[in-house]
Amino acid sequence: MADLHLICDTCRKPIDGATGYLWVDNSQINAVVKAVAEWNRAHTIPEGEPLAGGRMCSATDLFSYPEAVQWQAHHHACDPSQDASAYSIQADRISTWRELLDWTAHLMEKEWLTHTDWDDVLRGIHGGQSRLVLAATN
Ligand SMILES: [Zn+2]
Repeated sequence: MADLHLICDTCRKPIDGATGYLWVDNSQINAVVKAVAEWNRAHTIPEGEPLAGGRMCSATDLFSYPEAVQWQAHHHACDPSQDASAYSIQADRISTWRELLDWTAHLMEKEWLTHTDWDDVLRGIHGGQSRLVLAATN
């Protein structure tokens, strides 16, 4: 029995079985990884340089930190960008707590995970807001 339901971002209906997926856009991932690397280069004090002469991070700099890439949930038929190169998880492979934990452990091996909003995916489950929600208990 399913513990969790994916909710489609487009039609707001549950995604059953293999009719849809949770996904991130690979080109967005590549872009954010590159942007973060550039941001780090611009804001890191070179080794050996005295701190007093180093650059400080201003509030503006922090606001310029690249935004996290959003995980999206769609039925095949509702996906507005079906041609996107995507990292996707089929709905029926992430429908129990155990599967969610396994996916989270697996994704934590990816360098790019911290540049996505996976934390919000997990946090949102009990809020029932979007994407992954608790399955109704009968
Ligand atoms: Zn849909």
